[in-house]
Amino acid sequence: LVVLGIETSCDDTAAAVVRSNGQILSQVVSSQADLLAQFGGVAPKMAEEAHSRVIDQVVQEALDKAEITEKELSAVAVTIGPGLSLCLRVGVRKARKLAGTYVLPIVGVHHMEAHALVARLVERELQFPFMALLISGGHNLLILARDLGHYIQLGTTIDDAIGEAYDKTAKWLGLDMRKSGGPAVEELAREGDANSIVFKVPMKQHKDCNFSYAGLKTQVRLAIEANNIDAEIPISSASSEDRRARADIAASFQRVAVLHLEEKCERAIEWALKIEPSVKFLVVSGGVASNQFVRARLNHIVEKKCLQLVCPPPSLCTDNGVMIAWTGIEHFRMGRYDTPPPACEPEDVVLDLRPRWPLGEEYAEGRSEAR
Ligand code: ATP
Ligand code: FE
Repeated sequence: LVVLGIETSCDDTAAAVVRSNGQILSQVVSSQADLLAQFGGVAPKMAEEAHSRVIDQVVQEALDKAEITEKELSAVAVTIGPGLSLCLRVGVRKARKLAGTYVLPIVGVHHMEAHALVARLVERELQFPFMALLISGGHNLLILARDLGHYIQLGTTIDDAIGEAYDKTAKWLGLDMRKSGGPAVEELAREGDANSIVFKVPMKQHKDCNFSYAGLKTQVRLAIEANNIDAEIPISSASSEDRRARADIAASFQRVAVLHLEEKCERAIEWALKIEPSVKFLVVSGGVASNQFVRARLNHIVEKKCLQLVCPPPSLCTDNGVMIAWTGIEHFRMGRYDTPPPACEPEDVVLDLRPRWPLGEEYAEGRSEAR
């Protein structure tokens, strides 16, 4: 099988061609980071326009690099949710057009499932059931993957995701936002003293596996105000004393943000082993999983629990087309796809958007265990 994957759920336009043996034939990402830095966040309408401008070119480049034509594809996979519907629509329109024109089977993919399953492309030993911690800009999920398409949600965020907290911290610290905020905070944190400011670890009193990052964000903002840090002055122009204060906040924030992950992860592993004692792996994926400090700390927890950590390389942790193509392959193999009738119009290709789409059911017993 050889599948094209298309991803436009948020601010990156991505496409890739992947073989069912795991070979990545091409991978193209067009980022809107410059736009984001300019306007300080994702504006759906603007993001939609940016996707529309580049989608044809990104897909063509993915096919060209893979040295493959549309006709040679086995299927097209595309993200149908969760995400911004204006943005999702751009990718879905393109996928429908290809499927309609070339009579290709089409697979609608769950963006967060794809973040988790790409680990099976990276680590071929990774069998179901396994656990996944998915940490990105919009999600903070602890999942037990029992089988393909069969997930139990052990925990989620009650407000913000960790990536959002990294992004706001970066913005308030006056860091260079041309890349996303996370890498900038990670880099600055290396210079700082992680114990200089005592932030409170969120949700300590809750014996569940849920997350909260809104309160930590507020604590960071207050520390920034207390230290008279002016985000209008970029870090590159800050005095050495000012830079030091910013680095201390970055390091202290990161320590507590990750401690929160560690605590909930440890509990989730215990829950998961009760449901599926044969779990051997914890997958950590999503944009924040590219962070070296996050990886090292979670590795420590996983080893303590005698499990193994699988963390895809950074280019497969942040949004990409490979994970969509791969998840398409996994579902295609199981017969989960639609084939359009020959010579139909793109509008006749059946594929609905699912902008809000939970990944699996909530772990009901968790509620009583949490008491
Ligand atoms: P979602 O997957 O929830 O829909 P998204 O698709 O926007 O959100 P991803 O591309 O998966 O998110 O991840 C982007 C997030 O990852 C951003 O918040 C970014 O700051 C964060 N991130 C990327 N690299 C790092 C890093 N090295 N350290 C911390 N955070 C990082
Ligand atoms: Fe994502």
